[in-house]
Amino acid sequence: MSPAFYSKFDRHSNGEGLKGNATHYCPGCGHGLVHKFLAEAIAELGIEDDTVLVSPVGCSVFAYYYIDVGNTQAAHGRAAAVAIGHKLANPNATVIAYQGDGDLASIGLAETIAAAQLGTPITIIFINNAIYGMTGGQMAPTTLMGQPTSTSPDGRKQINGQPIKMAEQIALLDGAVYVERVALFSPAERNRAKKAIKKAIQLQKEGRGYTFVEVLAECPTHLKMDSAESEKWVKENMVPVFPLGAKKDSAPDTWWKIEQPVFDGNKFVEIVGGTTDKTERHCKGFPGHLHPSDVALKLAGSGGDGAQTAAILIATAGINEGFDGTHIPAYGPESRGGTSYADVHIAKDEVLNPASPTPHILIAYNAPSLTKFGPTVAKGGFVIFDSSVAGEIAPPAEGVRVIGVPFAEIAADLGKMVVKNIVSLGALAAATDIFPRETFLAAVKQALKDKSKLIPLNEQAFDRGFKAAKECMKAKGY
Ligand code: SF4
Ligand code: MG
Repeated sequence: MSPAFYSKFDRHSNGEGLKGNATHYCPGCGHGLVHKFLAEAIAELGIEDDTVLVSPVGCSVFAYYYIDVGNTQAAHGRAAAVAIGHKLANPNATVIAYQGDGDLASIGLAETIAAAQLGTPITIIFINNAIYGMTGGQMAPTTLMGQPTSTSPDGRKQINGQPIKMAEQIALLDGAVYVERVALFSPAERNRAKKAIKKAIQLQKEGRGYTFVEVLAECPTHLKMDSAESEKWVKENMVPVFPLGAKKDSAPDTWWKIEQPVFDGNKFVEIVGGTTDKTERHCKGFPGHLHPSDVALKLAGSGGDGAQTAAILIATAGINEGFDGTHIPAYGPESRGGTSYADVHIAKDEVLNPASPTPHILIAYNAPSLTKFGPTVAKGGFVIFDSSVAGEIAPPAEGVRVIGVPFAEIAADLGKMVVKNIVSLGALAAATDIFPRETFLAAVKQALKDKSKLIPLNEQAFDRGFKAAKECMKAKGY
């Protein structure tokens, strides 16, 4: 496996066993091959430490699980804009946006065109599989005439417009210096695809301009074919519409040279009208009894449980105490059902990885979250859950303390279900001693600065959660 790949992929079961090298893509999907070529190109150019990969929304939304470079997740269609931001902030970085057809050619078309005309040296890898993959096989901007999709069951018709030929469009724009369309359906085409991807990255690295590689890729799932049939389909049906080859190859000499920008925090605050005042600190020190340098939490529930708000409050509390704090909300494919969750880190110095695949603390607001994430909690950690909606679980690992507090019942008793998450924060404080009460309440007050009437209710909710957790711990002998 290319050294630019992570040695194990955490996406499934924390990367243990066979799943450690399995991607989330369907069998025969073109994304797997393109990831391989991309990782090989990065490794061969020796730029693993200087590269930023921008993942899109679509089937490749989880590209950051696989390629071991700097990774950023862009909002739907915005990968080119995010890539330009990275390039301006880090002019010496190699920045690659990886996008599908719905992302690049539909919702993100404005950014795509603007970036290609602007010509900032970034590289776009465009996966054209003629379909919206992740969302269920709807008609994409590149769907072929007559091609049936879930939103055009009788095939794409004239009234739906013609498939857009992105490589040709991009080649017309002045900022693009290298544009090529490649495919994956045979060893020779794969070879050309790999060379084109490497060349596009190389030209960017040399500061010679914006580069774009369109890859005609297979989506066997929505074609309802096996791998061999879908390769044949791409060759026979896509290639006549999307001819292969270079559409532009006119890279000038190196021209990209800008100063590394310097960030002046005080100047920033002056411009945006903020304050540099420090909030009062209440912690005696970093909660090193949970982890010496970086405490990972996961909060999981369903919409309306307040998991994201509670996550923000924990991160804010940590930052107010002078630590580093991050909050990553997850509304990925999981939003199609099941659980949604937030990963939070509180680090003594700096959060190096904001994901929490094996959290020290799990707060679960419903039974599916408890089942899904309970087994991921690290040895010696904590599971704090809403006992009014979820049954008891056995400690998932050695020394894990399982603390059930009726978040929902307490909130109902207080007359406002929305404070369920504040009850959970009280339980968190009691169970783990991560921060003192005052630290949490300072963060709550900050959040409620325009709704100060609600502060006493939130304080009550916090204290009830705290008390209930202490009682549970006493009963269990923790
Ligand atoms: Fe690949 Fe299609 Fe599956 Fe998405 S739906 S992972 S594009 S085969
Ligand atoms: Mg697609």
